[in-house]
Amino acid sequence: MSQVDSILGLPGLAVQRVDRKLGIHVWAKPSSRPSCVHCASETVRIKATHSRTLKHTRQGNQIMILHLSIPKYHCQNCDRYFRHQFPWARPRLRATEPYRLEVFEAHDGGVSQSKLSVTHRIGSATVERWYQHLIKRRVSELSGRACPRVLGIDEHFFTRKKGYATTLVDLRNHKVFDVVLGRSELSLRQYLSHLPGREQVQLVVMDLSETYRSIVHKYFPNAKIVADRFHVIRLVNHHFLNLWKQQDPVGRMNRGLLSLMRRHQWNLSQEQRDNLARYLEQFPILRSLYHAKQRLNKLLLIKNLMPKHGRKFMARLLKLIAQLAQSPARTLAHTLNSWLEPIVRMWRTSQSNGITEGFHTKMEMMTRRAYGFRNFENYRLRVLAHCGWNGVFSRV
Ligand SMILES: [Zn+2]
Repeated sequence: MSQVDSILGLPGLAVQRVDRKLGIHVWAKPSSRPSCVHCASETVRIKATHSRTLKHTRQGNQIMILHLSIPKYHCQNCDRYFRHQFPWARPRLRATEPYRLEVFEAHDGGVSQSKLSVTHRIGSATVERWYQHLIKRRVSELSGRACPRVLGIDEHFFTRKKGYATTLVDLRNHKVFDVVLGRSELSLRQYLSHLPGREQVQLVVMDLSETYRSIVHKYFPNAKIVADRFHVIRLVNHHFLNLWKQQDPVGRMNRGLLSLMRRHQWNLSQEQRDNLARYLEQFPILRSLYHAKQRLNKLLLIKNLMPKHGRKFMARLLKLIAQLAQSPARTLAHTLNSWLEPIVRMWRTSQSNGITEGFHTKMEMMTRRAYGFRNFENYRLRVLAHCGWNGVFSRV
């Protein structure tokens, strides 16, 4: 391929002529004669040539039109005929694959169909068709990948009619593994029981949900559950705010006070601490609950802990839970006890479902940009194409 030929970015072409008077018109022909597609013999001769016109990528603000001469060959060995084939120009299509990819990426990046139909001279229905085609191809390249070792499970809202969906995230590779409609065992059973490689899952990160816990026990037999730090701390704070309401029903009306109560003690200035201490003096029970909460949160934030230090923190945690069990916070103590193992496992890792939450935000934006999805399968394709894929087609 000479330098002039390589500018098209299409292999196997020899440029014959370029005309730039009205748009960019390029005449080209195959740079070499292939061997027979039937018998692989080298003895082929050109029987006839026909021409084919294809749109091929924009340069600047002009479309390049490719006029290809396509030979029809005759094989002298097996006496059969065949046409010259280019991998980037599929039969009967009037655009090259790079052109279709260009339209796809522009549309994917937010350029509207009507704008693309002007710049790329194709109908808006064609944009939609090409877009769907390439989305499906992205997802098909994903199929058959192994179940991730570290899995994040969380639910998110889909539509009012169809309810919630479950997200499975590959936490090591920061990719959405799949989305499944429903969040109960009944609705996930069909999917999970046919999931290949689910025995390989070693760690599942999730919020403190009873349903997901039993699902993990049942379908991921070798997986250990790790509680999600963010959710656990949120749960503790939620319980604490409720207890505050019981102790002092009007305290929460004071916005400044609410902010002081919510934040971690170690993030407060000395003045803020003094203010809070003055308030808490009036409510001795609340004060001890507050200090218990601070100690608890400190323990919950531990990450990447060496196993040898585990025992020390474990003793502290158990003591704290025992204290809480004797206080108005006994429901919280009960929950923490029931999830003790998954919570303690948080200490060993820094793994959390933060990535999953991030994907949920992204999926919400996607839904809004599409003005909502009614069909779950379309939604799933879109999510996987955007959040499950590393961005390069393995074959064009
Ligand atoms: Zn042949």
